[in-house]
Amino acid sequence: MYLKAERFPVRHAFSTREGGVSEGPYSSLNLGRSVGDDLARVEENGRRFASALELTANQLVTAHQVHGDRILEIDSASPGDSMPATVGEADALVTRTRGVGLAVRTADCVPVLLYAPDVAAGAAVHAGWRSAALLIAGKAAGRLQALYGADPKRMFAAIGPSIRRCCYEVGEEVAAQFEALFGPGVVARGGPRPHLDVAEASRLALLEAGLRPEAIEVLPCCTSCDARRFFSHRRDRGVTGRHLACVVL
Ligand SMILES: [Zn+2]
Repeated sequence: MYLKAERFPVRHAFSTREGGVSEGPYSSLNLGRSVGDDLARVEENGRRFASALELTANQLVTAHQVHGDRILEIDSASPGDSMPATVGEADALVTRTRGVGLAVRTADCVPVLLYAPDVAAGAAVHAGWRSAALLIAGKAAGRLQALYGADPKRMFAAIGPSIRRCCYEVGEEVAAQFEALFGPGVVARGGPRPHLDVAEASRLALLEAGLRPEAIEVLPCCTSCDARRFFSHRRDRGVTGRHLACVVL
């Protein structure tokens, strides 16, 4: 039902597609409400995932994700009663409110969870390539510092399953943009089209923000390679489910 990062020292989960009740392309733990799946099943899936995190479904909070770099602070528990509660437009959420499960929805994009133990704050980040090019993971770490006084040198990060460079072909323009931002290491140029590593770009953005390399864990999972465990927007040609990545303070 979910994966954890071994060295990320706070309650969290990256959902897999296993352990839910949805069928067909959404089989089985689809946690996206607006992908064409039956809503009653999505809600049951949400209850199961929340309960695995020892939460109720309405403690999960997500944003309407728009591939930008807006970051929203969540400052109260249980802001809604739908599953999960959706609060505004943003691609990253930060909080230090206890009992809130900050969550982002992905199906190839990079989910990044942050935890700042010195101020007991956390963040959930949705880094598709557009947001990654806006350095959203680093900006979320910066927001934890600006809002709460968190020290980046003490922060932890977990980068969850996403489409990796093995499968992520991009156009020349995007590849060149990432090389200019992050150096040659984020693009592979062995084949007819360049392949991009957005997870590595997100890791580099976190290092730039001041996190220590040993505090950043990257789960070795490509959503496109592993159809048994993961939904993949690209592999499934847009008709597929969504995962949630969640951190709980
Ligand atoms: Zn792959």
